[in-house]
Amino acid sequence: MTPSEVLPVHLTFDDGPDPEGTCRVLDALHEAEARATFFVVAPLARREPALISAVLDAGHQVELHCTEHVRHTDRTRKEIEADTEAALADLHALGVRPRLWRPPWGIVAPWTPEIARSYGLELALWTIDPHDWRGDSSGEMLAHIEPRIEPGAVVLLHDGLGPGALRTGCVETVALIPTLVDSIRARGFEPAPMAEAITARPKTERASA
Ligand SMILES: [Zn+2]
Repeated sequence: MTPSEVLPVHLTFDDGPDPEGTCRVLDALHEAEARATFFVVAPLARREPALISAVLDAGHQVELHCTEHVRHTDRTRKEIEADTEAALADLHALGVRPRLWRPPWGIVAPWTPEIARSYGLELALWTIDPHDWRGDSSGEMLAHIEPRIEPGAVVLLHDGLGPGALRTGCVETVALIPTLVDSIRARGFEPAPMAEAITARPKTERASA
């Protein structure tokens, strides 16, 4: 099958890059020969440029999470614009041109979609949240995810430790990756970066029209 014929399921990792977590997630994805999308915190990316390069070199996608991990509804429109502008400047300096934007906690203020449009970004939330930030076991997370797997599903995971994380590392998330990738493939789907779905979308629409 050509890539456009494979029905994608998207693994996404937020709150990195993290020197330990991102490396371990990258190793697990490499072992599983799976590709994913990373929604990064710009100041962390600036601090860990080699990790961003490693993510890109492995064929994954780097997209925008934030500068400050704040709720858009707790800030003014101007503050979120400034946060976004600073994040994009940081990422552009690293050679990353995000097309997707996942606001912290997926919380969208009334002005968030307009800001996204003005920067040429598409908002990207998720369809499956196995709560890895809570420290659930990989088995519990797989049990939560499996019944919800469908083409285009987006699984929310974390390679970093954001505010409110109840775990001290990403051991269970890393343990989940091989079993989840197997489970996705057993259903005939393939893990793929989200941005590829955007690229493929016009073709899909033509095919179904
Ligand atoms: Zn986050």
